[in-house]
Amino acid sequence: MFNKHEKMQKRILDAFYGEKELTEELKNHIGNCKDCSAFWESMNLLKEHAEDEPSIKGEDIEAYERIIAEAFREAEKIKEKNKNIRDYIVFILVSVIFLSSAGMFAYMGYGKVILTVQIFIIMFVPILVPFFIKHRLSKEVE
Ligand SMILES: [Zn+2]
Repeated sequence: MFNKHEKMQKRILDAFYGEKELTEELKNHIGNCKDCSAFWESMNLLKEHAEDEPSIKGEDIEAYERIIAEAFREAEKIKEKNKNIRDYIVFILVSVIFLSSAGMFAYMGYGKVILTVQIFIIMFVPILVPFFIKHRLSKEVE
């Protein structure tokens, strides 16, 4: 899956070293995104630290950058995974509520209708799950 923060953080890195302009869009994103502002902060800390320590060479800084960028990517991946689990739990809860209300209707004498609905759910819900998750994810993309 495409990760927009990863792309943003690459642009932040470019802007940080003056290779590209720090655009308003980028500034806004840093201002509003917890992850990317943390990334920006750690870049600043790294720079300050490097200035205080003349013994740190350019290649050392590059190595640190790579480690930091990698750590941020890992954090993103873990969050992504947790979000999918959350979607799954929401889906299970919705299904349980749906089926138990169907059971209640069946008890009240709407058996045949309920049976049809249940067969429909069993057949179509597995097809709908990926759409459900995709829909949730697409809402997060700015
Ligand atoms: Zn971000």
